[in-house]
Amino acid sequence: MSQQHLMNTYGRQPVTFAYGEGAWLWDTNGKRYLDALAGVAVNGLGHAHPVLAKAIAEQAAKLIHVSNIYQIDEQSRLANRLCALSGMDRVFFCNSGCEANEAAIKLARLYGHGKGIENPAIVVMEKSFHGRTLATLSATGNYKVQAGFEPLVPGFVRVPFDDLDAVRQVAEHNPNVVAVLVEPIQGEGGINIPHGGANYLRGLRELCDQHGWLLMLDEVQSGIARTGTMFAFQHTGIKPDVMTLAKGLGSGVPIGACLAYGAAAEVFTPGKHGSTFGGNPLACAAALATLDVIENDKLGQHAEQLGNWINQAFSAQLKDVAGVVTIRNAGLMIGIELDRPCGDLVKQALEAGLLINVTADKVVRLLPPLILNQAEAQQLVDGLSGLIKKFLEASA
Ligand SMILES: *Cc1c(COP(=O)(O)O)cnc(C)c1O
Repeated sequence: MSQQHLMNTYGRQPVTFAYGEGAWLWDTNGKRYLDALAGVAVNGLGHAHPVLAKAIAEQAAKLIHVSNIYQIDEQSRLANRLCALSGMDRVFFCNSGCEANEAAIKLARLYGHGKGIENPAIVVMEKSFHGRTLATLSATGNYKVQAGFEPLVPGFVRVPFDDLDAVRQVAEHNPNVVAVLVEPIQGEGGINIPHGGANYLRGLRELCDQHGWLLMLDEVQSGIARTGTMFAFQHTGIKPDVMTLAKGLGSGVPIGACLAYGAAAEVFTPGKHGSTFGGNPLACAAALATLDVIENDKLGQHAEQLGNWINQAFSAQLKDVAGVVTIRNAGLMIGIELDRPCGDLVKQALEAGLLINVTADKVVRLLPPLILNQAEAQQLVDGLSGLIKKFLEASA
């Protein structure tokens, strides 16, 4: 269909999907695809999950939206559930990841002003991604995302990811810092996992405690069981002051959340922040059903085991192949880094019936649905390994 009336914001693949089931999608010509991207870490339950579809249909038949002028039981229930799962105290609901991070940034600034800091600053990371609104693109560590939108929002101090010394130096020289905003595992930046494992977040937690800063984790991509635990920080034994969620939370029904703990949970008061749609009954019903399925079917454990198996299976097929730099994963956040730009692989995989993604130019990124089974994982490894070998030979 003609796209001339759509704003030209995306370089889209030449395919239109008609329906899906589980980890599979069918296009309008009836061709079948194995979905190893899951709408960019959104469709954790795969497509057309019956429990989710039923929950959404039942809620839609009762009530979709009433606004936050009134009490919303589904929202309170979801907040209780998320706090029980995470150990956090309070939740603000919005509709996307960037909005969740906007809420976190506003919360940090308000917290700073409360401490008498007039120009509060937030430490952010190189290669990070936090969204496309003005504040979140300013926080993002990727010049391509910012170019053309200057002047950027001030109040961010950038340091390399996975470098505690750099944060220590900021602490010595900048009395305006009020918070650190960081992805536990960088997604868009190329599936970057801290080298010291849990020690990175533990080190950040210690620095934040020493200096009275808020530790704010962007778990928009790493959250909702993708790395094995419900939230990635739960691998580390620490707890953040603020955590943001979106992507997998509503399985495709737009919802974002900013969770806060302790003093941070008491920063917002009526009138300081809001959202018309945020946390409406439909979105909350979808999120509650998503959490039900993840817990009942133990999808976190499954994601961790299957992700590790996929990593080993790719390693077995690709480890001696010239051009493959590393294969890394945290649960079902999987990155295969090549030594050259490999955007063309996306189209080649599409033709072969495989949906994958390339990020940071050289990293094949896989974010399959949490319900992917062993046979599908084998198919993914076999199909994609062949494509990568062919691609590397052809571009040598
Ligand atoms: C996708 C993403 C965002 C932005 O989410 P939107 O819903 O697109 O606004 C923010 N942070 C991280 C880590 C993400 O992966």
